[in-house]
Amino acid sequence: MVELALDGVTKRYDDAQGTETAVSDFSLTVEDELLVLLGPSGCGKTTTLRMIAGLETVTDGAIRIDGRDVTGLAPSDRSIAMVFQDYGLYTMMSVRENMAYGLKHSTDLSAAEREARVEEMAEMFDIAGLLDRSVTDLSGGQKQRVSLGRAMVREPDVFLLDEPLASLDAKLRSEMRTELQRLQSELDITTVYVTHDQKEAMTMADRIAVLDDGVLQQAGPPDRVYADP
Ligand code: ADP
Ligand code: ADP
Repeated sequence: MVELALDGVTKRYDDAQGTETAVSDFSLTVEDELLVLLGPSGCGKTTTLRMIAGLETVTDGAIRIDGRDVTGLAPSDRSIAMVFQDYGLYTMMSVRENMAYGLKHSTDLSAAEREARVEEMAEMFDIAGLLDRSVTDLSGGQKQRVSLGRAMVREPDVFLLDEPLASLDAKLRSEMRTELQRLQSELDITTVYVTHDQKEAMTMADRIAVLDDGVLQQAGPPDRVYADP
């Protein structure tokens, strides 16, 4: 049971052109569910995820995990894993090394425990046969499986996905959707999933939060968000 809470989260960028408010007074609680953050390009989805991950500072408001304020913490001090559209794998490393890298900050684990976690996640994502391959030899779908495995090997409290299927072709995308849904129901994890694709949101989400121009418009189950007015 993990609760992620955004409390009045605001992000302003200041540059030569002036001030841009990317996210404005965003409050929402996510708990043991897959929440889809949906909205058009530029509405503040990625900025929101990056603030949750600690990759971007918060201008105003707070982010809490199980009541603990993580707003000022470094990414490695938050129990969060993030997966990106373009995989973000280390091309000089094997699949096994990429996955083990996810455990770099888990200094309490022995080498044998690390190895066991990597193999368990490789089984879960169906890449056990690829562990000693170079990631550059893999297909797009295989790369995204490695990237999911690397994220999950940390056993994060919160799982963040930024358009994770956008680089895949339609067939793979539909396969991976099914896999992610299975994972979500098996692990019962707290997940925030960003997409601009309404169809994807409808099939994946326990709840959908609709963002427009940095402002939360509504949040609810897919059938309520898209019910006829
Ligand atoms: P989305 O992920 O929904 O496409 P973003 O979170 O990437 O939206 O961007 C939200 C807004 O913030 C956009 O107007 C974008 O131009 C602006 N923005 C994002 N990153 C920066 C930055 N580093 N500096 C200035 N403005 C930015
Ligand atoms: P280091 O401690 O050497 O900086 P990290 O693994 O902490 O290595 O981070 C490497 C880079 O990966 C960071 O600069 C950050 O951009 C990104 N990063 C770190 N933690 C996360 C995370 N939980 N989710 C997404 N990206 C992350």
